[in-house]
Amino acid sequence: MGQPNSSFKKTDINTPYDAGVAQLVEQRFRKPQVDGSTPFASSIFMKIIFLGTNGWYDTQTGNTPCVLIETQSEYIVLDAGFGFYKLKDIISSEKPVRLFISHLHYDHLIGLHTLPLFKLSQGIDIYANKAIMKGLRAFLKRPYTSPVILLPTKVRFHTVTGDSNMPITFETAGLRHSVSCHGYRLHVEGKIVTYCTDTGLCSGLKRLAKDADLLITESAMAPGDRSPNIFHLTPEMAASVAAETRVKKLALFHFDPGKYPSLDSRRAAQTAVQGIFKDTIAANDSTVINI
Ligand SMILES: [Zn+2]
Ligand SMILES: [Zn+2]
Repeated sequence: MGQPNSSFKKTDINTPYDAGVAQLVEQRFRKPQVDGSTPFASSIFMKIIFLGTNGWYDTQTGNTPCVLIETQSEYIVLDAGFGFYKLKDIISSEKPVRLFISHLHYDHLIGLHTLPLFKLSQGIDIYANKAIMKGLRAFLKRPYTSPVILLPTKVRFHTVTGDSNMPITFETAGLRHSVSCHGYRLHVEGKIVTYCTDTGLCSGLKRLAKDADLLITESAMAPGDRSPNIFHLTPEMAASVAAETRVKKLALFHFDPGKYPSLDSRRAAQTAVQGIFKDTIAANDSTVINI
C-alpha cells in the first residue's frame, strides 16, 4: 500500500473546477488509518468518483469525461477526457489501474496527454476494441504526445474482442454514435456498473443496462430537445432507459456545456426527469456515489 501524496497542497488549486479535486483529495487523504491505509481503501463499499462530467470541451462546469470506480482491489477508469489528470492525486496504492476507452473522440482521450505526470509502479492497463485500439496507439506517440515507451509508467494495451472474464468480468456492446463507440457492463465485487456514453437510443445501451446497480450514461442534449440528433440522449431518454431496464440508480453526465452552462441547469434536468426515474442524479466533477 503506497502512501498518500503528501506534496499535494491546497494552494495548488487555481481554478474553480479544481475545487472538486481539493475536496476529493481531502476526503481521500483524511485521517490515514493505523495500518497506513486511507479511508477510501479501507471502505467496504465501492466508490464511483466523477472526475470529468462535461461533454465535448472543458468549461468552469467541469472537465471532459473521466470516471473512477475504486474497489477494494482495483482502480477502474472509464474514459480519459481532461478529468483524467486528477487521478494523479487520487491513486495512492499499488492496486491495478484498468482504463476502458469508449471511443476515439478527443474529449474521451485528450487526458492521456497528461500521462507523463504519472509514476505508477503497477503500470496502467488500457482496454479498447480493435479499431479503437489501433487509433489509440497511433495517438499515443509523437508528434501528438509523449511516446508510451518514454513514460515513467508502464502502459499495457489489451484489445477487447467481446465479453470477457479476464482479469475482470465485463460485457461490451456497440452503441449508436457517429463513430465506432462501445459501452461496458462491469461486474465488480458483486455489483453491476454500466457505462454507456456518446450514444443515441439503441439495443446495445439497453442490453448493457439491464438490472444494473448503477447506469452511468450521457445527457448531452437539453431537456425537451426534439432535434433529430440520433447520436446523443436527452435526460428524458436516459431516464426512460433506466426505468425500462430496471436499473437501481441512474447517473447522468457528459453534459454539453453549450446546453448546460451552469451546474444549476444540470440540477434542473435532474429534477425534470425524476418523475420518469426517481433515483436519478446529475453528476458534477466532485460527485462520489457509493453502491
Ligand atoms: Zn463525448
Ligand atoms: Zn463522441
